[in-house]
Amino acid sequence: MRKRIFWNIFLSSLIAALLLGGVVLLAQYSIFENLVFSELASESRYVQSGLDSAVDENTYLSSLPSTSRLTLIDADGTVLFDNSSDTTKLDNHSDRPEVAEAKSIGIGTSSRFSETQLIKNFYYARLLPDGRVLRVASSQKSVLGMIGTLLPTMLAVFFAIIVISALFARFAAKTIVQPINALDLENPLGNVAYDELAPLLTSMERQRREIIDRMAALSEKQREFTAVTENMREGFILLDTSDRMLAINGSAAQIFGAEPSQVVGAHVLMLNRSVALQQALEQSRTAGSGQATLVRGASTYQVLASQVTGSQTQAGTVILILDISDRVAAEQMRREFSANVSHELKTPLTSILGYAEIMRDGVAKAEDTKRFAGKIYTEASQLMSLIEDIIRLSQLDEKTSLPEFTTVNLKEICEDVCQRLQPQADKAGVSLNVNCANLSVRGIPKILEEIVLNLVDNAIKYNTSNGSVGVTLKSSDNRVDLSVSDTGIGISDEHVSRVFERFYRVDRSRNKQISGTGLGLSIVKHSAETLGATVQLQSKIGIGTTVTISFPAID
Ligand code: ADP
Repeated sequence: MRKRIFWNIFLSSLIAALLLGGVVLLAQYSIFENLVFSELASESRYVQSGLDSAVDENTYLSSLPSTSRLTLIDADGTVLFDNSSDTTKLDNHSDRPEVAEAKSIGIGTSSRFSETQLIKNFYYARLLPDGRVLRVASSQKSVLGMIGTLLPTMLAVFFAIIVISALFARFAAKTIVQPINALDLENPLGNVAYDELAPLLTSMERQRREIIDRMAALSEKQREFTAVTENMREGFILLDTSDRMLAINGSAAQIFGAEPSQVVGAHVLMLNRSVALQQALEQSRTAGSGQATLVRGASTYQVLASQVTGSQTQAGTVILILDISDRVAAEQMRREFSANVSHELKTPLTSILGYAEIMRDGVAKAEDTKRFAGKIYTEASQLMSLIEDIIRLSQLDEKTSLPEFTTVNLKEICEDVCQRLQPQADKAGVSLNVNCANLSVRGIPKILEEIVLNLVDNAIKYNTSNGSVGVTLKSSDNRVDLSVSDTGIGISDEHVSRVFERFYRVDRSRNKQISGTGLGLSIVKHSAETLGATVQLQSKIGIGTTVTISFPAID
């Protein structure tokens, strides 16, 4: 812009200067012409008066200084005298315009240009009373001639004009552009510049506000988007059309062990090259959406990829990664549970069928019949407790069918259960010691009773003769702790973490003699979780086991 302004001003000044120079030259030339003619007029008057009084005209005319050309022409056009040419060689002058004009109106003027000499001749003719014509002529250089003479001066002036115009144009361009360059675009209306810029500045201010508002709305949307995606437990990845990551939330970054700020902009395969991810993406490209299962470490994820389409074209892909480890584990557990249930039901039933068959066929001796009936009774009882345990577990799984929580005195439950199991303890030669503070917890009486029953039952079952069982109830740190400890056979470390699994029994062959379903501790754990309590088991082989259930205290 500065250059354009410079050249505009510079060329305008130059053209103006040149035009002005030309006009001045022409004006001067015309003034000069008038001046020449008036000088020639007075000279002609002077010569005429000299002729009037001269004795010999030729002598008089010859005596005059030869600054101008003097010509005396007869009435018929014959040249009688000429101070610069031989009259015999001059032709008849009656056709000369100035002579013809003088003859008709008394005075005649004319000027003629000599192209060869670049000279212009000025003629002034005066009609004398006797009919002759006196002509005075002077020659001057033409405009071109004058220009030629003036050329060095004109060139000097021309260069001076160029330099001055350039300097002025530079200064003017700088002065014009400077306030524009100094405009504070952050605050357009605060600028004191040209009045002509006011509409532009007003519109800039309006656009600036519009941009600020739009930016604020966009950042708000971005903040909302980030807040939503960052708080998602699911992994979220947004890809552009070339599968480059536009956004990735914390969960997704954590799953793939990446740093969001470092992977944004990179290709999704830089994040993970698993076949599952590629499969899901491929499917989504062909069918609009795709999914696959991805296993990372101990966790299993479901990858869902969906194409996002703009008004008409494809805009990118959204990938959701859901942690389905619990679901997979639950499915696995359900499968194992069904297999175990069938197996556990089949074992006593086979036994019952066998004894019943012998008795039906009358193969059993009379003295064995009572023993076989006793076996059938024991297996049927085992079957019954198994079925009861399964029902209990399914009730616990179906949380909706549970009754409301009430305040339950846990001391009373512990004492009651121990009293009921006293005969069993006596039979096993195990002493039962109850040391309970009078504490209550929030819960369901039936479930609490089952917890205590299962724990004390195990403590008696897996004890040694002359062993002991201790049931304690005390409060600590806003908790109510119920502990059942025994001096029994104990559980080795490798089994400690597994005894809460459904149907898990430590030593099946040895446990054959000890009745049990392998569901007791899973019922305890499930029940405790339902009541918001935690379970802890500590055991040492040959020394004993302590199971502690920690309930939240009542406020
Ligand atoms: P079960 O019906 O077999 O008692 P549980 O789920 O109650 O089933 O217990 C699972 C297994 O844990 C038992 O088979 C047993 O091997 C072991 N166990 C449970 N309690 C004790 C304990 N107090 N002392 C030693 N082993 C125990």
